Amino acid sequence: MTAVPDIVVLLYALLIGLCVGSFLNVVIYRLPLGQSLVSPGSRCPKCGYALRWYDNVPVLSWAFLAGRCRQCRTSISAQYPIVELVTALLFVLVAWLTPVGPLLVSRLILVAILVALFGIDLEHQILPNSITLPGILVGLMFSTIAPPGWKDALLGALLGAGVLYGIAAAYYALRREEGMGMGDVKMLAMIGAFLGWKAVLVTLVLSSFSGAAIGMALIAAQRGGMKLALPFGTFLALGALAAMLVGDPLIAWYAGFF
Ligand SMILES: [Zn+2]
Repeated sequence: MTAVPDIVVLLYALLIGLCVGSFLNVVIYRLPLGQSLVSPGSRCPKCGYALRWYDNVPVLSWAFLAGRCRQCRTSISAQYPIVELVTALLFVLVAWLTPVGPLLVSRLILVAILVALFGIDLEHQILPNSITLPGILVGLMFSTIAPPGWKDALLGALLGAGVLYGIAAAYYALRREEGMGMGDVKMLAMIGAFLGWKAVLVTLVLSSFSGAAIGMALIAAQRGGMKLALPFGTFLALGALAAMLVGDPLIAWYAGFF
């Protein structure tokens, strides 16, 4: 039972979410290219115009400039305001469901990481170690002061890594080619470190089903062969978000059948 949350908390979550989303755009764009996340400031990729603070207000600047550079009018991807809005909405949702405390902080950190990994995997088909490995540590650290507790978190990290490593090894033994990257292994270990072992199972089931459903839809639409390389990390991110938000009622509902 969640108490009615303070509207101020939700407003803070919205504003912080917009700013974090703005930073995540920088992470998604620059980290895979090996560029610094802090300097130089944001520039127009076409004309090099250095964005002023008023060009950098999340969502609003993009909307006010109708998605174009102030100087050369080249169009700026809608991905920027979308990442900001999605991050902000997820922050508000998590703040609504979670009482203020260490658990809320750990969940907001996980949301930010998942948004970044989703975007990077979608665009570059990689899940950088510089995000997943520190993520495992941060998740385990928070588990010592917040749910799911350190035993559950440690078990989650080991289970997450073990299951996907086993699948990757089996696939390699059968096909002599890599079907799943080690990035997926580390990402699910990180999800386990934050959310515990039960959430690892929920994440796996949800991401496999949604991955298979979208894969079959693409094959049916003749958009690719059987061996379509869909980045599994994007589905892991969606599955983990669902596991975090509705995992407990889902497990209770499923357990009700036995
Ligand atoms: Zn420009």
